[in-house]
Amino acid sequence: MINYNNSTAKQKAHIDRMIEQDIYCNINDIVDRLEIYEYLENECIETCRYCGAENEEECECGSYDGTYNEPLEFYFVSKWLADRLYEIGEPVVRQFTGKAIWGRTCSGQAIALDDTFWEVFQDGVQNA
Ligand SMILES: [Zn+2]
Repeated sequence: MINYNNSTAKQKAHIDRMIEQDIYCNINDIVDRLEIYEYLENECIETCRYCGAENEEECECGSYDGTYNEPLEFYFVSKWLADRLYEIGEPVVRQFTGKAIWGRTCSGQAIALDDTFWEVFQDGVQNA
C-alpha cells in the first residue's frame, strides 16, 4: 500500500485534495453537546493496528495487539466518505440529522499522515 512515507509529492497532493473535499470541519468543541455516542458505528472494536483484523484469528500480519478503536477527534464528513470509513472499520455516525460524523482514532498529527485516507483513496493515489 502506498502511504505518506512512500508516496510522491503528486500523490500527497491528491490525498490533500480528497481530504479537503470530504472532511468539512472539526467538531471537538461541540461533540459532547451533540450526544452522538449512542449512534456511533464501529465503535470500540479492538483491531490489529497493522492489518485492521478484528481478532487474532483474522490477523494476517501476525501482529494482532487488540488496539482499542476509541475516537479522539470528531469531524463532519461527506456521506460518501462516511460510508468508505465505515467499510474499513472506522468509528462513524452515518445518520445524524442528515450529517455524517467521523471519529478519528489518532490525534496530534496532520490528517494526511493517517493511513486511513491512504487506504480509502488508494486506487486514486495509485493513478495520481
Ligand atoms: Zn494484523
